[in-house]
Amino acid sequence: MPVWSLALIPAAIGFLWLLFRIKQSHKKQQSTLSSEYFKGLNYLLNDEQGKALDIFVKLVETNWDTIDTHFTLGKIYRKNGEMDKAIKIHQGLIARPSLPERYRNKILLELGYDYLGAGWFDRAEGLFKEVLIQDEKSKEARHNLILIYQQEKDWFKAIDIAVDLFSEAPAVIGPMIAHYYCELAEISRTKGDISQLETYAQKALRHDASCVRATILLADQAMSAGQDKQAIKLYEKIEKQDPESMILVIDSLMKCHVGLSKQEKFYQYLLDLQERHENLFLQDVIASVIEVTEGKQAAIDYLSTEIKRQPSLIGLQTLLSYKEKNADEVFGSLSTAISVMQKDSVKYRCQKCGFSTNTHYWLCPSCNHWGRVKPSVIGSEH
Ligand SMILES: [Zn+2]
Repeated sequence: MPVWSLALIPAAIGFLWLLFRIKQSHKKQQSTLSSEYFKGLNYLLNDEQGKALDIFVKLVETNWDTIDTHFTLGKIYRKNGEMDKAIKIHQGLIARPSLPERYRNKILLELGYDYLGAGWFDRAEGLFKEVLIQDEKSKEARHNLILIYQQEKDWFKAIDIAVDLFSEAPAVIGPMIAHYYCELAEISRTKGDISQLETYAQKALRHDASCVRATILLADQAMSAGQDKQAIKLYEKIEKQDPESMILVIDSLMKCHVGLSKQEKFYQYLLDLQERHENLFLQDVIASVIEVTEGKQAAIDYLSTEIKRQPSLIGLQTLLSYKEKNADEVFGSLSTAISVMQKDSVKYRCQKCGFSTNTHYWLCPSCNHWGRVKPSVIGSEH
């Protein structure tokens, strides 16, 4: 028996259940239907799908209640990556002149999933739109259209559809819309259209007040325009939106303070920030600020005390980078070892699906959720 036949076991169970149902409602037809069903099932298990489908199509024409069988089969084929077979089933159903209207949308949705699975986004888009013509409230069609537009990076169309869903689930749809506006803002930045960048970033924040990405876009813009004060205000706002994301902007924040010769103020800010959020590892940043303001020895003293209190790879590595200048071979090799460990340790992790990466993504490549890939606590790995 081919391995894929095992996947048909649920379908077989489904068939038996359907048989039972048919027995209840169509006692007269029961014996013919049962024997035909078993014949079809037998063909399926023998990998003769063409013959099996012929039988099921005939059956569905005499009794449309058996349509669930087709849906089950279609899903199994899709799951096995056999899109052509799933498409054949659903196209066959749509082409039936006797198809009752009530099943039409369901078949179109299934066919849409087949096309999505096959990577034919334009065809899938057409079908989901057709569903919306019949049933303008269809959430399933809307969600799939959003996924298609997201895939095609057609952010305007994605926003159009998502806005209609916003009032129903603001906590889910809001962050998605915000990221679409951030994508538009990034395009505006590439084009050098700053006022458009700011408009889109503000729109993002209106749909999701916690959108870190929009705040970073605005802050980065202020910084590159030489408005360090304004940039600092914006970067510091991120602490309220999502404290862990402060790691993403700490270097920029330091540059702004250096630009304003406010290293002392920044040092105090970092100490307070570290106290408010113990899981943020800021030892390397704090040490470099101390080095600039009070000298190398003060930085070494700070790190020596700090890594005993809160051990972290980044703190240890920074300390060694100071000490190895004294040409101690042991320290040198230790530092190398830690560098390797640091390289292997994961910098970012998706809070939705656990996907780990050393590159920061706004859209998780694994589970397709926006804004869930966050800095993992450096130093606690291993
Ligand atoms: Zn994920």
